[in-house]
Order: sequence, then structure tokens, then C-alpha cells
Amino acid sequence: MAEKLLIFGPPGSGKGTQAAIIGQSRQLAHVSTGDMLRAAMAAGTELGKRVKDVVDRGDLVTDDLMLALVEDRLEQADAKGGFLLDGFPRTLAQAEGLARVLTKAGTHLDAVIILDVDDDELVKRAMARGRADDSEKTVQHRLDVYRGQTEPVLGFFEGKVRFCRVDGVGNIEEITERIERGLDAEHQY
Ligand code: AMP
Repeated sequence: MAEKLLIFGPPGSGKGTQAAIIGQSRQLAHVSTGDMLRAAMAAGTELGKRVKDVVDRGDLVTDDLMLALVEDRLEQADAKGGFLLDGFPRTLAQAEGLARVLTKAGTHLDAVIILDVDDDELVKRAMARGRADDSEKTVQHRLDVYRGQTEPVLGFFEGKVRFCRVDGVGNIEEITERIERGLDAEHQY
């Protein structure tokens, strides 16, 4: 079965870590838009140069650019066997664009995984992580962007796609276990 999943959670919630693990265990293409943008920046491609300032500030790259990037990625062979989207969609326009792309391809999402972590814990974790775009101000800004623009996107999926909401505080294995259990449960809306 070509499972199509999306993982949703604030910056620093561990969604990248969990997406990599779950992607591997369920044999899904892990499509992380943050990783794609960081790879483009590291390689110094046109895309990388174009997005660098925006990413460094913790702002969002434009919806058109992100949609084109994801649409291309989902057309690659590995994604045909199922995928796990990580870091996309982050705005309502992206969610609507994704829905159009999936409908055109005659498919739909099977579940949205939501990692719940509160803001105090997130700031603490981000400061410990020390990524280039992780200064305290940027961390707080990314959180504000998430709460303001990304979290409301869940409303778009509510009632349309199964929600698998888990507590994102704990050790990595525990959280993976919670997600796997939630995904394999027959009913959980
Ligand atoms: P992430 O690794 O998912 O936290 O993404 C790192 C940064 O890449 C974000 O802070 C944004 O600047 C940018 N980015 C990643 N995904 C998206 C997206 N779907 N829409 C807009 N910007 C994005």
C-alpha cells in the first residue's frame, strides 16, 4: 500500500527525526522541504541563493516556489511508493495547492501526524541544537510564524484526513512508538 502521510509540529518538535525513522520503517519517501532548501543553500544553487535570506531570518519561502518544489519531488519514482511530508504545507495556500496536486494524481493523504510540544520546551531544545538559523530571536520568530500561519492549517485537514496526535515530549523511541501505534489504530479522528 502506498501510504501518504504528513507530519505536523512546531520547529524543534522532533518532526524531522521522527519523519526519518517512520519513513524508513514504513518504506516511505521522506520529503522534508527544510532539508531540500538546506541542501540547495549548501550547494549554492540558484534556488539556494534565492531562499537563503528568508530561511536565515526564519521567515517562510513563497508558496509558489514551495509548491513547485514539492510537486516536482512527488513526481519522482520513490514517492510513488508512498511518502511522508515533513515541513510542508506551512500555509493555507500550500495546503490547498497540495490538495489540488493530490486530487490531480487521483490520490489523497491517509493521515496527519501531529506532534504536540509546548513553547517553553521548544525554545529550550532549539537553543541546545545550535543550528545556523537558531539564534534565540530567530527561534522565537519561527515559533510565532508556526503558531500564526502553520498551526491554523490543521483546520483545513480536520474532518478530511485522519489525525494521529501524539505527545511529543519523551525519548525518541517512545515517541516513535506512540506514532506507530496511532497510525496502526483502526479509528482515531
Ligand atoms: P524546517 O527544517 O522544516 O524547520 O525548515 C527550515 C526553514 O526552511 C524554515 O524556517 C523556512 O524558512 C523554510 N521552509 C521549509 N519548509 C517551508 C515551507 N513549506 N514553506 C515555506 N518555507 C519553508
